[in-house]
Amino acid sequence: MLSNIIKNIAAVLVFVPLMSKRIAVIQGDITQQRVDAIVNAANNSLLGGGGVDGAIHKAAGSGLLNECRQLKGCATGEAKITKGYNLPAKWVIHTVGPIWYGGNQGEDELLASCYRSCLNIAQEQYQIKTVAFSAISTGVYRFPVERAARIAVTEIQRFLEKNNSLEQVILVCFSKSAYDVYLSAVREMGER
Ligand code: ADP
Repeated sequence: MLSNIIKNIAAVLVFVPLMSKRIAVIQGDITQQRVDAIVNAANNSLLGGGGVDGAIHKAAGSGLLNECRQLKGCATGEAKITKGYNLPAKWVIHTVGPIWYGGNQGEDELLASCYRSCLNIAQEQYQIKTVAFSAISTGVYRFPVERAARIAVTEIQRFLEKNNSLEQVILVCFSKSAYDVYLSAVREMGER
């Protein structure tokens, strides 16, 4: 009995610092990240667009667009993977976030589904250990940033608690204001 309690306390003491290193928030350009996979906030066509999508296609080169043409698009909330071509990242996971219509069109669940789909692809199909996410839906798709950050952190945390294959998930924020919001979400939810 006592030994079980001691074991449980020891497990928590080991688990908390381990978990805390597995989610990181940085301010930067996702195209520069030296990780196994970066996550693109794409649109349903997967044929490139503005924002982070445009930056990723520009940095990856035309090979990426050629491969994306074969994929025949992607549904909102789902994800598909390609190679990274000229990017430092070996893989690009393309996901399509929901457009914000006020919150009553299933936006929260669709955004959560984006994170789950990307993380599932990362762990099931390829030996990916490090993944960098862009702040899906928070640009032209206008999803409120605080709300998006809480959903992102909740889904990533849930996933990491159950899966050991991923070593680190990095939330890459382009602006200082987004960085502050995502970092607060990680801190609020018990991470550092
Ligand atoms: P969405 O259509 O899903 O809203 P956007 O590309 O418009 O996608 O914006 C998603 C987020 O990506 C925004 O927070 C935007 O500031 C950010 N972003 C834009 N360019 C980059 C980049 N090069 N690296 C990381 N994040 C970026």
